[in-house]
Amino acid sequence: MTAALENLSKDVFNLNQNNQMKNDSGKENEGGYKLSTEIKMDIDRLYAVVPQLSKIFFIEDKIGEGTFSSVYLATAQLKSGIVEKFALKHLIPTSHPVRIAAELQCLTVAGGQDNVMGVKYCLRKDDHVVIVMPYLEHESFLDLLSSMKLEDVREYMYNLLKALRRIHHFGIIHRDIKPSNFLYNGRLKKYALVDFGLAQGTPDTKIELLKVVKTEDQQGSCSKNKPMTSSGNKVPNAATMNKPLAQYPAGKQPIKRPWPLSQAKHGKLVKPAKNADITSRKIIVAKRKITSSKGTTSGLGRRPAICPSDLTCDCYMTDRICSVCLSRRQQVAPRAGTPGFRAPEVLMKCPHQTSAIDMWSAGVVFLSLLSARYPFFKASDDLTALAQIMTIRGTKETIQAAKSFGKAVSCSKECPKLDLRTLCERLRGTDCSSKRKSNQKNEPKECSRITGCVPGPDIKDDEKKEKTDSLTYKQELHSQPRKVKQDIRWDSDFKSTARSSDMKSWNRVPDLAYDLLDKLLDLNPATRLTAEKALKHPFFEGI
Ligand code: ADP
Ligand code: MG
Ligand code: ZN
Repeated sequence: MTAALENLSKDVFNLNQNNQMKNDSGKENEGGYKLSTEIKMDIDRLYAVVPQLSKIFFIEDKIGEGTFSSVYLATAQLKSGIVEKFALKHLIPTSHPVRIAAELQCLTVAGGQDNVMGVKYCLRKDDHVVIVMPYLEHESFLDLLSSMKLEDVREYMYNLLKALRRIHHFGIIHRDIKPSNFLYNGRLKKYALVDFGLAQGTPDTKIELLKVVKTEDQQGSCSKNKPMTSSGNKVPNAATMNKPLAQYPAGKQPIKRPWPLSQAKHGKLVKPAKNADITSRKIIVAKRKITSSKGTTSGLGRRPAICPSDLTCDCYMTDRICSVCLSRRQQVAPRAGTPGFRAPEVLMKCPHQTSAIDMWSAGVVFLSLLSARYPFFKASDDLTALAQIMTIRGTKETIQAAKSFGKAVSCSKECPKLDLRTLCERLRGTDCSSKRKSNQKNEPKECSRITGCVPGPDIKDDEKKEKTDSLTYKQELHSQPRKVKQDIRWDSDFKSTARSSDMKSWNRVPDLAYDLLDKLLDLNPATRLTAEKALKHPFFEGI
C-alpha cells in the first residue's frame, strides 16, 4: 500500500526557490493578503512535521478544518514551469492507518473521474499523513443558494448523482454526502466529490481496504441477542475521543508498516462528522469489551450491557420503561454522518444499510436547492432529526417505511405528508398564490415568511422502548401549506418545456423536479432511487 501511495513526485517538481524564500519570510500568499497568525502557525507546524512538503509546495492558506483533518491550499512549480494548485489534506495523527489507507484507496480507485476527486500523491512522516489532491476552487453553498438558477440546480444534481453512481459502482457508501463534500465551481462547471473519511464498503465492494474497515457499531450489534462478555476495557466515549486508542511507541511508523490484516479484522472504525458520532472513528484494536459506557455513543441514553434474549416485557405502548427493557442492550448500527443528512434507516439504527443512504442525503441537498434553505434539517440528535423528517414526509408514511426495515415507530401526533412543491415554493418565496394574496392586500410582493414552531410528533421506538420527550423544533415552514397547482399553470410535461429558458425561472419549476425529489426522499431504502436510475429521470432529459 504505502509504496504505491508514497510514490512521491520523484522528479515531477522542481524545487521552487521562490516559494522557499516566501516560506521563510513573511508568509504572504499568492493573493497578496496576510494570513492570520493562527493559520501561519498551523502552516509552520505542518512544514515542521512533514518537512518534505517545503521542498515541493508553498502552502498558501488553510481552506478547511475539521475534527479529523485540516486542508490547505498549496502551489508547486512543475518541471514545465507551470505553477499548479493543490489541496493538501493533513489527517490528524491519531487516524488509524487502515482508515487512512481506505480513504486513499477510494480516491485512487474510484477517483479522478465522473466528478469524484482524485489523488496526486501522499506524503508521510511518522504518523503525519498528507493527501495531495488537485485543487478545485469552489463556492460556498450558501452563496450558491442565492445565485443558482434552476438550470444550475439541474446540472448540479446531475453531476452529484454521476459521482454517486461512480462510487456506488465500486461498492463505496460515502456516508457523508452534503454540500461541503461536493465541491462546485460554477465558472468552470466543475464538480468534485471529496472526503472518503467515513466511507464504508458494500458487501461486494471493490475497495479492498473497505472490507477491513468495519464500524464499531456493526460489529457490536446485539441484534442476535448474544450476551456480551465483559473484561474491563472501555469502549471509547466522548471523553477519550482525542486520545488514540492504539498508541504507537515513539519511533514506530504505523503507516509504513502495513496494518496486519489479522489484526485489522478485529478493528472497527468509522469517521463521524464533526459534531456527530465522534467515538466511532476510532479503531478498536483490542477486543472490545462492553461496559455501561456503551450507551453514551448512542444519544439515546445509557443502558446496561446485558442483552436478555428470552425475557418478555409488558411496557409496549405504555409511557414507562420496564426493567426488562432497561436491561436490554442498545441496538447499534452505523450512524456516522452529519445529522441533517442522515437517512431514516440510519436514524432508526437499521443495521443493514446500503448505498441508498447516500441517495437520501442527495435528496436533502436537492431539497435545500429547491427551497433555498440551508441547512434544511437542523437537529442535535437522531430523534429530533426523525421528527423533522416525519413532519415533512408524513408520520404514517414513516411508520410504514420503518416497518419494511424491521423497526416500529409510534407517534403521539399525526402529521400529514407535505406537498413538496408547496413546501419549497413557500420557503423560497415563489409561491404565486401567496404573492397574489399579498398584492391584493398591498403587502410586499414577496411571499411572507412565517417563522413557525412546528411541533414534531412524539416518537416512541417501540423496539427499544425508549421513552422520549415531546419533540418540538423550530423550523421556518409555512404553517398551513396549500396546494398551489390550481392557481398557476404548471408545466407537467417536461419534454415540451425542459428548454433552458424554462430552467432559468424559479416560477416555472417543473413537476418532474419534485417527482425526482420525492423519489430521492423515499423513506423506504428498498424503493429509493439508485444513482443509476436517478440519472435517467426525465428531469435530466437533455443534459
Ligand atoms: P474533512 O474530513 O475534514 O471534512 P474534507 O476532505 O471534506 O475533510 O475537506 C474539507 C474541506 O476542504 C472541503 O469542504 C473543501 O472546502 C476543502 N477541500 C477538500 N479537498 C479539496 C480539493 N481537492 N480542492 C479544493 N478544496 C478542497
Ligand atoms: Mg468533509
Ligand atoms: Zn419493556
